[in-house]
Amino acid sequence: MKILGIRVDSVDMIESLSRIAELIKSKKPSQVVTLNAEILYNAQDDEKTKTVIEHAAMVTPDGAGILWAASKLGHPLKERVTGIDLLQELCRQAPYNGWKLYFLGAAPQVAQTAAAKLREQNNSIQIVGTHDGYFNKEEEKNILADIADKKPDLLFVAMGAPRQDIWIYDHQDELPPLVAIGVGGSLDVLAGIVKRAPASFQRLKLEWLWRLLKQPSRIGRMMALPKFVIAVNKSRRKSQKIQAEMKRRRLP
Ligand code: UDP
Repeated sequence: MKILGIRVDSVDMIESLSRIAELIKSKKPSQVVTLNAEILYNAQDDEKTKTVIEHAAMVTPDGAGILWAASKLGHPLKERVTGIDLLQELCRQAPYNGWKLYFLGAAPQVAQTAAAKLREQNNSIQIVGTHDGYFNKEEEKNILADIADKKPDLLFVAMGAPRQDIWIYDHQDELPPLVAIGVGGSLDVLAGIVKRAPASFQRLKLEWLWRLLKQPSRIGRMMALPKFVIAVNKSRRKSQKIQAEMKRRRLP
């Protein structure tokens, strides 16, 4: 489906996980985008992000804003499929499937701490490499060589959207066959540096408010959200008008 002309796939968590498992099996280099309302809104005027989204193997509905817009436009979605939920679920499933994982992103030591915590929970998890998300061109070459050498099945890139998604798209030819997923600030959560919103906030679809309260500096980015709501309402009115006009013309 399209929201403001931008692609979002109508998938729930179970469908997303089974699609990722299929992609890993196919050994086809693939990208998964976890798309939230803010990035979707900004993508309208950003050809590069739009291209990345169009070429992805899957674009999941990440956030309450996308779900609200989808139902407003007459295509209700079952649930959010967020980067952090995908990451946690794939980490749970990885040992049983023999999948190798690589974490790229966040501040120095964060990816290692996240990996150590996951190994404490299940020592058969194979996290074959980690690197922080602050690197220069020279270091980038070494990171790409390390990923090519370790051949993970899943590469989680946690450098914030849309930077991470553009990075994956731009380097897909230099990566071995794997599924690369942009997961935003998820490694900070796994490492215990940032606390995820309590279940009550998640249930009430207020995770965005929790993140804003914890990181007030996000306010600038969040200004896209009211604009997103206005644009979706406008797009809904436009499509209602078109439908009414089509109905009218069919009448004698
Ligand atoms: N980050 C990074 N490299 C950069 C800029 C940011 O690895 O050049 C990391 C940052 O340390 C944080 C994550 O990207 O862990 C961004 O988190 P944020 O919550 O802003 O991402 P979102 O989930 O909103 O996309």
